[in-house]
This record gives sequence, structure tokens and C-alpha cells, in this order.
Amino acid sequence: MNCKKCKNKCIKNGFQINAKQRFYCKYCKISLQCTYAYKAYNLSTNYQVYCLLINSCGINDISRILNIARNTVKRRIFLLSKHIRIPLNNTYNESYEIDEMHVKVLGMGKHCYISYAINRKTKAVINFCIGGKSAVQLAKVVNPVLLLHPKRIYTEKLASYKRIIPEHIHKTGKSLTNHIERYHLTLRTHLKCLSRKTICYSKSIKSLEAILRLYFFGHTLNLRG
Ligand SMILES: [Zn+2]
Repeated sequence: MNCKKCKNKCIKNGFQINAKQRFYCKYCKISLQCTYAYKAYNLSTNYQVYCLLINSCGINDISRILNIARNTVKRRIFLLSKHIRIPLNNTYNESYEIDEMHVKVLGMGKHCYISYAINRKTKAVINFCIGGKSAVQLAKVVNPVLLLHPKRIYTEKLASYKRIIPEHIHKTGKSLTNHIERYHLTLRTHLKCLSRKTICYSKSIKSLEAILRLYFFGHTLNLRG
């Protein structure tokens, strides 16, 4: 049998409890089987979950399409998002847009927002946070942007921003945040839990955060093997 990751030949390595032959890849240092009784253990499952998630499929949809349990899908999403490290940005002296988008999360009331910052030119997301619109909350997004020595930061006319962004680089106005407003629409189209005027919403902040982490920074994971 050949390794499903590196395609090199595997050696036999004993048997599983259910009497199936176990193989071992010397190059990847992993044990694997020819066929799995549980579909979730296939090597391609993580990549399939990621692809479906960022293409407007909810957790229940993924569970039905891949024929694996709902809780397994949930656990995989949490596990994958845990392995993500936010990529380091080394683009200095650029312009950034920061904005908040309203989201519905169970038990969070009406005032729950996703705040995030994007690079105006590359559209790369720098950081995000979920919660209210207070200065303390927004500082979680603004501080990583300030570390990049930005040329300009464009936001809406919210009092909290004026307290945390230096005046000489801060510009406010509804028409100046066009790029990020358009990005809101992309997010709402690509993630099912953010669809407006539907019955789809997140049950907890933790799961929404895991999904957003995967959407924004999932490309840094090597899921295809
Ligand atoms: Zn291998």
C-alpha cells in the first residue's frame, strides 16, 4: 500500500483491534489503514469540511453531505481552527479599513458584532474580534494594525475609534469604507451562519470564532496533504 500523503510505499505494522491490517509510513511517520470503518478518519475529510464550510454550507449540511456525525464536524472545525496561527504581516505604510458587522448569536442579544481590519490594497484580513463596540473591544483589532505603522486607517464615525487611533492617520466617513462594506457581503454569502433574514445563526461565540478563523486564515493550513 502507498501512503496517501506522500505516495511512498508503506510497511505493514501489526493489526488494529478490529483485525484490519495497519500500515506505517516511514517518511510521514504516521499509521494508516487501507479502508476505514468510520468515514471521518479518511485523510481527505478535513479538507472537505473546510471547502464545504467556506462555500455556504452549515454544520448540518456538511454532516449530511459527507455522511459523518454532526458533532464530529463540529469537533473537526474546532480542532482545525486551533491549529491556525494568524499569518505575520510585514506590509508597512499601507492603508487599512476597519468596520463592524452585525451578527446574530444565540444568547448574545441584539448588540453583537464582528469587527475586523482589512488591507485596502490586498484585502488581507489583519485581525478580528466578536463582541460589542466598546473601545476595549475594538482595540483588539486596532492594535495589531497600529503595529504595522499604517499610512491611513479608515473607519466610520464611531466615538470609540477616536479614542484609540492617533488623529493624524485616522480618517472617518461612510464613503471611505467601501472595500470593507463589500467584504461584509462576501462574508454573508460564503458563510451560512451569517446569512441575513434566515433561521441560520451561530449557537455560540466559540463556534462562530472557529468558523471565522478558518475562513480568514484557513489557507495557511496544509489540508490537502
Ligand atoms: Zn507518507
